[in-house]
Order: sequence, then structure tokens, then C-alpha cells
Amino acid sequence: MLVSSRERACRNCRKIVSGNVCDNCGSTSLTTNFQGLFIALLPEESKIAETLEIKKPGHYAVKVG
Ligand SMILES: [Zn+2]
Repeated sequence: MLVSSRERACRNCRKIVSGNVCDNCGSTSLTTNFQGLFIALLPEESKIAETLEIKKPGHYAVKVG
């Protein structure tokens, strides 16, 4: 799946956001240099979310450069 070039990943929590501030953790350390996309729907039930330390539903980068 391709992500719009306007979207950026938070370096802190890997959430993919379209603004200048991460709406998950409040960090402004965002990057367009990220790989992969993980859509967390029920993070509390997902092993992948647990591995990535994702606790809230949303779109996340698998790897942030
Ligand atoms: Zn964040």
C-alpha cells in the first residue's frame, strides 16, 4: 500500500500523521523517510502491535529512517 507523500511518520512512536505534530505522542520529530505500513485496528489483540509497542489504533510505519 502506498502512503501519500504528505504523510510523515513520527520518529518517537512511528504513528503516521499528516500534520506537523504527532497526534499520538505530541512529538514534532516527523520524517518522510519510513518504510512499511502497519494498520493497527485492535492493538491490544495484535502480536505485531505488541512488538512495535503500539497501544492505540491507527496507521504506523514499520520502520522509521
Ligand atoms: Zn508520535
